[in-house]
Amino acid sequence: MNELQYYQELLKCVRCGACKALCPTYSSALDETMGARGRIAMLGALREKTLAPTKRLSDKIFSCILCEACKDLCPTGINIPETIYHGRIKLKEFYRRGHLLRTGVKFSLSRMDTVFSVLRVLRKFFYPPLYKTGRLRYIPEIAPSSFRESAQVYKNTELRNKKNARIALFVGCSVNYLYQHLGDALLRILLTKGYEVVVLKGEVCCGAPMRAHGLEKEAIRLAKKNIGLFNKMRVEAILCMCPTCTMTIKKQYPLLVKDSIEKIMDINEFFIKNNFISGLETTRKVITYHDPCHLRYGLGIKNEPREVLKNIQGIELIEMQDAEECCGFGGLFCLNFKKLSKDIGEKKINSIHNSWADTVVTSCPGCIMQLEDLKRTTNTKINIMHVVEVVDEAMHS
Ligand code: SF4
Ligand code: SF4
Repeated sequence: MNELQYYQELLKCVRCGACKALCPTYSSALDETMGARGRIAMLGALREKTLAPTKRLSDKIFSCILCEACKDLCPTGINIPETIYHGRIKLKEFYRRGHLLRTGVKFSLSRMDTVFSVLRVLRKFFYPPLYKTGRLRYIPEIAPSSFRESAQVYKNTELRNKKNARIALFVGCSVNYLYQHLGDALLRILLTKGYEVVVLKGEVCCGAPMRAHGLEKEAIRLAKKNIGLFNKMRVEAILCMCPTCTMTIKKQYPLLVKDSIEKIMDINEFFIKNNFISGLETTRKVITYHDPCHLRYGLGIKNEPREVLKNIQGIELIEMQDAEECCGFGGLFCLNFKKLSKDIGEKKINSIHNSWADTVVTSCPGCIMQLEDLKRTTNTKINIMHVVEVVDEAMHS
């Protein structure tokens, strides 16, 4: 979005308030300045110079989770999240609360492996006592080496005559360092179906945390790197288990660099399209499904994960109330706005609890991290699974 487009977007607002309907920060804070309409109005006033760029104002603009729930609600067609991204570029220097994280994000750009190695040591020695005091949120264990470290082409040698097409994985940082078992589960599924699977060492962060902190140039650099790497591949599809990466690549790369990774696909879509679920059976489970915002609002995928679950024998799928509402994770949002993130999350964990399901399934490693944190702090007894774990279990046990 250039400066003129930004200005035109801001001018289009008629203050109707339709965008507040699904805004999680507004529903939780019940404060106009913490909702979509208020943020657009404040950015308009900043553009008109009737509001000064202050720390307080930047806090309001950076408190948006970027969940995309408001994206299609505006009757005058304002792309609210994109307008907020642009506002953040202007306000980032005033956003002191996120200064440390912004510096950290910038520093770690080309040193992800080193940063996570240091974090692993810190987590081992300092995290447990601090976590017990309740001052730190839950962080899963950090793997000794990254998932992409063993980058290679995986083949199922037992299926020599039934070879299927070639697939590449866009691993994403959360699976690469924190939730490697999800990557292993997806590998097992694809290999069982006879696919050849490629994991690329050169993949870099999709750029979402950089954009969220107003670091647009850095995000563009990463986008170009990923596009150059993945579009060279001759594969049927490039699969991703993180909706934030998939949405960033599919919807935001074209806006940032007028190009994208053409074959990127969410795994739920892929499972349904290729009929992976037929004939699968698992141990009896009562499951409720939580919609990750970037999958439902960002990519418009809400039926596919439910289709996957409903079609596995042994699963009873029951809908929780407000399954589409945000869990409050929002990447670095949960660190910058701990209380707000917790308040939004507690509403979600209550809906899960009241559904009477024994397992909550979602399609996003970030949502899993938030749900695991909430499970511990609220003492809720519930299994938490990613959809690939459910399919893997049904296929292999
Ligand atoms: S992106 Fe989400 S949190 Fe931000 S203004 Fe829109 S609905 Fe509210
Ligand atoms: S829905 Fe659109 S026009 Fe209405 S208040 Fe929100 S941004 Fe403004």
